[in-house]
Amino acid sequence: MSEKKRPRRKVILAREVGFCFGVKRAINLTKQALAERNDVFILGDVVHNKRVTDELEARGLRKVDDFTNEKSGTMIIRAHGLPKAKIQEAKARGIEVVDATCPIVLRAQEAAQTLERDGYNLVIVGDRNHAEIKGILGALQHPALVINSVDELRAAKADYKLLRKVGVIFQTTLALELCFQIINEMMMMCKEIRIINTICRPVQNRQEDAVQLASRVDLMIVVGSRTSANTMELAALCKHYNPNTIHVQNADELPVEAFADCETVGIASGLSTPEDLVEAVRVKVLTADIDGEETTTASETLTVA
Ligand code: SF4
Repeated sequence: MSEKKRPRRKVILAREVGFCFGVKRAINLTKQALAERNDVFILGDVVHNKRVTDELEARGLRKVDDFTNEKSGTMIIRAHGLPKAKIQEAKARGIEVVDATCPIVLRAQEAAQTLERDGYNLVIVGDRNHAEIKGILGALQHPALVINSVDELRAAKADYKLLRKVGVIFQTTLALELCFQIINEMMMMCKEIRIINTICRPVQNRQEDAVQLASRVDLMIVVGSRTSANTMELAALCKHYNPNTIHVQNADELPVEAFADCETVGIASGLSTPEDLVEAVRVKVLTADIDGEETTTASETLTVA
């Protein structure tokens, strides 16, 4: 059988892949609660990854849409947090609460409270339907303006006081580029702006690494769930810097043809992607031949320094 010629292929992993510390912490607290208690449930998914949620449900975790029918048991609060009033309501019903809200999300809630207390007209940049934003709004005494684009900011100008004493925070997982665009626009419409940078540092690091990596590889692969906002944002960002970017949820979704002729392949992941899914993609890129044969020669794996 003649040996197929293929380019030397190098796989470069982004510096950090797999779960962020906030997601790891939430999963560990959930596992601990499941090991120690009888009836454990959660509002929504602990993490936007089906494989992980299936595993936790197999250990007994119940997923519920609301807790108004629950009278006992233990409720896990996800890393995104929950509005204070809902936590109080659950406790008043006799439900025990395990709070897995990420400390960085709690800091964003505190930043919003500080700006409100100091008399700023609060603008939250993020998705109003996201659990984290609902949690932040729920920590405030008064409603705040939530915007997710420059167009929404312009449209809001008519109804909101956006001239003086404007306080701004961001959804922790927001793409930096969007933050810059919105702040630039605000500079033209507001006289006084106080910004508290609530962007999560692990998110920022991953975005910076991924952009650098995408800019220098033949193909960029972003691994993560399509229901994960930060994965979708990371994939869009990489695509901006390298049109030859593909987003896959797992190794099975990765077509061999996509990387068969590539010499350098970069891999990054969302914050809710288990590390072994990234590893499976790495192994496939290193070992799968265009004909489905496997080889481990003439390839190497590096981690971005
Ligand atoms: S992305 Fe950041 S803020 Fe969100 S859970 Fe992870 S560490 Fe916490």
